[in-house]
Amino acid sequence: MKYFSTRGNVHGLSFKDAVMMGLADDGGLLLPEAIPVLTPGDVEVLGHLDYPELAFQILSLFTEDIPSVDLKDLVERSYASFTHPEVTPLVHRNGVYILELFHGPTLAFKDVALQLLGNLFEYLLKERGEKMNILGATSGDTGSAAIYGVSGKENINIFILHPHRRVSAIQELQMTTVTDPNVFNLAIRGTFDDGQRIVKEVFGDLPFKSAHSLGAVNSINWARVLAQIVYYFYAYGRVRRETGCRDFYVSVPTGNFGDIFAGYVAKRMGLPIRKLILATNENNILARFVRDGDYSIGAVAETLSPSMDIQVASNFERYLFYLFDQDAEKVARAMKDFAGTGRLAFTNQERARVAADFLALSVDKDQTLATIGDFHAATGYILDPHSAVGVKAAKDLSGGDAPVVCLATAHPAKFPEPVRRATGRDPEIPPPLAGIETRERRCEIIDADTAKIKEYVAKHAV
Ligand SMILES: *Cc1c(COP(=O)(O)O)cnc(C)c1O
Repeated sequence: MKYFSTRGNVHGLSFKDAVMMGLADDGGLLLPEAIPVLTPGDVEVLGHLDYPELAFQILSLFTEDIPSVDLKDLVERSYASFTHPEVTPLVHRNGVYILELFHGPTLAFKDVALQLLGNLFEYLLKERGEKMNILGATSGDTGSAAIYGVSGKENINIFILHPHRRVSAIQELQMTTVTDPNVFNLAIRGTFDDGQRIVKEVFGDLPFKSAHSLGAVNSINWARVLAQIVYYFYAYGRVRRETGCRDFYVSVPTGNFGDIFAGYVAKRMGLPIRKLILATNENNILARFVRDGDYSIGAVAETLSPSMDIQVASNFERYLFYLFDQDAEKVARAMKDFAGTGRLAFTNQERARVAADFLALSVDKDQTLATIGDFHAATGYILDPHSAVGVKAAKDLSGGDAPVVCLATAHPAKFPEPVRRATGRDPEIPPPLAGIETRERRCEIIDADTAKIKEYVAKHAV
C-alpha cells in the first residue's frame, strides 16, 4: 500500500514514510492509494477476533512494509496497556450500546491511537538510526495521551507545554506524574494560545527544527486514523453477535473529524454502517456542514466537552478528498479558498452524498447535562460529557431500525464537575487515577517566551 497527499504533490510513500512524515510536505494529509474493500464474509470473520488479533488483521491491510511478527508485537504491546481484557468493551444499557474507548492509561479514546503511534515511532526510529524530539501544546486534555504514548520510549524525548494553573487538577496530575526521564512537562506562565503560538514559532524556525529533529503527535498522523478504524469493526462484531443485526448506526462525539473519519473509512471498507451520526457540542461547524452544507468558521465557545472545542477540523480535508471524487486539485483549491474566506460551499450533489453517509446534531450544555442525568437515572450508568453528546444525538437521530453504538470517548472521572451537577454523585475513581495526588511529580515552570522554550528544548533534546 502506497500513500499520497490530498493536495496531489506527494506520491508513492510507504506506510513507514507516511507515519514519519505526519503532515504531507505539500501541506495536505496522507491517504492510502486504495482503501481495501472486504466481502461480507470477511467482515463476519473479523467480527469473531479478539481486539489485538483484529487490530493486527486490519493494520496488515495498510502496512505491507512491516513484517508480520513485528507488527503483531507492536499491536500486542500497544493494547497490553489497557486495563480491560476486551480493550474496548461494548456495554448495553436500555437499548443503547456503548463502546467504552477509555480503558487506556489516560482514560480517553486518544490512547487507542497514541499507544500504537508511540510504539511505531520507537520501532521506526530504531530501524533508521534516528532520534525525535516531540513538541506540543495542550489545553489540558490531550497532552497526557501523547505523554503516555511515548514515555519510556528509546530515542524520543517529549516536551509538552500547558498553561500554568489553567488546566484542571486531574489533567495536571495526569501529565506531571509521568516522571520518565524522556518526558518534559513545561508549565508556561501564560495561556493555551501562548503555548500554541510558541510551538508554531519553534516549528517555523526550520534550522532549529531540523537540528533537533522536532516531531509532532497531532491528530493528522495517518497511523492514528488507522488505529481507530479497528474499533468500528470490533463494535460491529460484538453488536451483531448480540442482536443478529445486518447493519448498525454509530454515534461519534466529534471535534477534529478524526475519529469519525476512521468510521467513514471502515464504511468504505465494507463495514455495514447504516449512517455515521456526527455529534458536536456548541462548536458546531461540522454539524452545520452535514445539515445545511454550511462549513464556515465561528468563534470557539467553551463547553462542558473541552476536547471538542474546535472550529477548524484538522482531518476534514481527508473526507473532502472523497467528497470531491478524489480530485486532489479541487481539494487544494478548496483549502486555499477556505484559508482566505473561512468558509466552503457545496453543490446539491455533494450535499446529497454527505447525507447518504452522515446524520448530525449539535448538542448544547443543558442537553448534555440532561442526558447525563437522565441516562444515570434510567440505567445507573454515568456518561462523561463528551460521550453524552453522542448519546443525545443517537437518541434523536437513529431510526430505531437498527442498533446504535455510541462511542464513549472519556471516563467520567476525568470530568467530575459536570457529572456531579447532572447526577448529584461523584464518578467512581478508576485504577489509573487512584492515589494520583500522592505520586511523585516532575514539571518545570517557565516563561511563555519562545526563546526560553527553545533554549530548554536544545538543552534537553535527545
Ligand atoms: C479528542 C476527543 C474527542 C474528539 O475526537 P476527534 O477525533 O477530534 O473528533 C472526543 N472526545 C474526547 C474525550 C476527546 O479527547
